[in-house]
Amino acid sequence: MPESDVEVVVIGGGAAGVAAAQRLADASVRSLLVEARPRLGGRAWTVHDRDGHALDLGCGWLHSADRNPWIDVAQQEGFAIDKTPPPWRNRPLEASLSRAEHRAFRQAIDEFYVRLEDAAQGAADAPASTLIDPANRWKPLLDAMSTYISGAELERVSLKDLDAYHSTDANWRVVEGYGTLISAYGANLPVMLDCPVSAIDHGGKRLTIQTSKGSIAADQAIITVPSTIIADERIRFSPTIPDKIKAARGLPLGLDDKLFISLEGAEEFPTSARLFAHTDRTATAGYHIRPFGWPMIEAYFGGACAAQLEAGGEAAFFDFAVAELVGVMGGNFAKRLKPIRVHCWGADPYALGAYSFARPGYADRRTVLAEPIDGRLFFAGEACSLHDFSTAHGGYLTGVAAADGVIAARSKSQTMRSISR
Ligand SMILES: Cc1cc2nc3c(=O)[nH]c(=O)nc-3n(C[C@H](O)[C@H](O)[C@H](O)COP(=O)(O)OP(=O)(O)OC[C@H]3O[C@@H](n4cnc5c(N)ncnc54)[C@H](O)[C@@H]3O)c2cc1C
Repeated sequence: MPESDVEVVVIGGGAAGVAAAQRLADASVRSLLVEARPRLGGRAWTVHDRDGHALDLGCGWLHSADRNPWIDVAQQEGFAIDKTPPPWRNRPLEASLSRAEHRAFRQAIDEFYVRLEDAAQGAADAPASTLIDPANRWKPLLDAMSTYISGAELERVSLKDLDAYHSTDANWRVVEGYGTLISAYGANLPVMLDCPVSAIDHGGKRLTIQTSKGSIAADQAIITVPSTIIADERIRFSPTIPDKIKAARGLPLGLDDKLFISLEGAEEFPTSARLFAHTDRTATAGYHIRPFGWPMIEAYFGGACAAQLEAGGEAAFFDFAVAELVGVMGGNFAKRLKPIRVHCWGADPYALGAYSFARPGYADRRTVLAEPIDGRLFFAGEACSLHDFSTAHGGYLTGVAAADGVIAARSKSQTMRSISR
């Protein structure tokens, strides 16, 4: 006998789940959001340092900000929006890349994207690495960029999927943190935290959802967990859902981790400066100096480099970053650095990675993953988005689409019931 009974259960309280549950609440559909963690936000997570700076361990940039629905939410909730151009729009510090080298690197990027657009028109998919000569001077750094963008090196990434991503190039932030914003949006929703879902039975007339706090009966469910959770079958479906599992396995999460480092005497650098420590290897972090003008460095690690550092434990990230920074700034620089906070998203049991990319040949699986089953099981989350995958606004848009699907299915079944009376 189920312990509770609702119309709709939303599973997962990240960007997609919160947006879906809010949409259902606005339409007066009785829903319950069930979240495994003790907090909302999922891969959107803001923590604070001792001075109260809001540090986003997960998403930080409101990409495609001029059409990003979280901007409206931020404005409604009274959050401060920062429009300082992102560091990747700035020329890296001269010490790390000369003006001429930067020009040559930009040209290599532009040429890569021209080839990408061309190749994506063809019938066949292929690894994105096929678009650049392995001997190209900039290949290692382009690969490092790929680990920041997709969480994986180019050879693991589908070129068709990479090309399908749409960006307007407006990248803004909320000063209070993207994680703070997303969890605030869910603050008034009916939510059960600390409550992992282990199984969903959709064989009967109603759904039965097994959680660590008992079972829940529902008419419909919106499942917003990361693709890794579906791929690893960490939630058991009966009957099983082989197409979804296969699709999710084609859309793994790449790996990215951030480390915040405090920097003494930070004023010597301009706000939002950018530094490359190595341009000839892929295992290198991206360094964002003085984000928001704060006295710190945000270091970004991706792909195999991040995986290797996770295996070494949290301290390995700081050691790696210090060694890289000292290589550019000189030995005395080490004394000015102290670790603040890092989070290992690969080891995080409710994420198992950072954001989704498609393996070569699997770009079309995003549609399969998003497809509802029998008007009762709906799927959302960034991996379900065709053009905004890997982002928090992609999560939002798929959550709202799934909630609209639920609302439409409910009104259809109500109409059928009233006709058959
Ligand atoms: C380091 C890093 C940097 C990033 N930078 C950016 C950025 O700058 N801009 C951007 O837009 N995006 C960025 N992203 C990606 C962005 O954070 C995600 O795409 C987005 O937050 C995903 O939202 P979601 O709702 O799809 O998934 P999630 O946020 O993962 O939500 C799914 C929820 O399901 C829960 N869950 C899992 N298993 C269960 C279970 N069994 N039962 C119940 N609940 C469960 C999880 O705890 C989680 O809360 C970044 C991510 C990382 C890790």
